[in-house]
Amino acid sequence: MLQQILAELAETNTRLVAVSKTKPVEQILEMYQQGQRIFGENRVQELIEKQAALPEDIEWHAIGHLQTNKVKYISAFVSLIHSVDSLKLLAEIDKQALKNERTIDCLLQIKIAAEDSKFGLSLEDAKALLSSERFSDLSNIRIVGVMGMATFTEDEDQVRGEFRHLKSCFDQLKTGYFSDQASFAEISMGMSGDYRIAQEEGSTMVRIGSLLFGAR
Ligand SMILES: *Cc1c(COP(=O)(O)O)cnc(C)c1O
Repeated sequence: MLQQILAELAETNTRLVAVSKTKPVEQILEMYQQGQRIFGENRVQELIEKQAALPEDIEWHAIGHLQTNKVKYISAFVSLIHSVDSLKLLAEIDKQALKNERTIDCLLQIKIAAEDSKFGLSLEDAKALLSSERFSDLSNIRIVGVMGMATFTEDEDQVRGEFRHLKSCFDQLKTGYFSDQASFAEISMGMSGDYRIAQEEGSTMVRIGSLLFGAR
């Protein structure tokens, strides 16, 4: 399954985040041995334990809602945080990155789904955050793009529309705030059920769990 998904993603240079939440280290190691290096987790405790138990060269991505008081546990090693949804969280990531003498790459999570259970910023929220004085003082974070989750529905047109909206948010933020920064380049969208649509709509990074590892 891994090789098949990678072959599909290669057509558009889209990267794969293997979402290993709830899966044991043995299964992750198996996928590592097939060449996969980017893994995503949504719980801090699990992320810490797996990072300590698995090879050093894995790129660990935090993909789920992140509580401010937990940033300190992952700040030494996390390579990308997909789920930044407030300036408060971003300021804490900056503080912890500074302590670790590093820069932490982050994505702004944009709310694109119709369901109200999903976290995320509106485009206006994101613009306000990026325009704020407090944001301009943060020196140890780097915003490298956006992330979004589509509504969990069979309606492909709705999902496609939501991904298109995320791509449009990315384009507007790129033009307005990052036009001189090549590093602002990532659109994290697409999961097991909708990654092909996401890929067609411009995803640079899909987050796939159950399709790779089996149902949770
Ligand atoms: C669990 C999860 C995924 C992967 O979901 P699957 O449907 O298993 O592919 C992707 N993104 C986030 C934020 C998740 O929590």
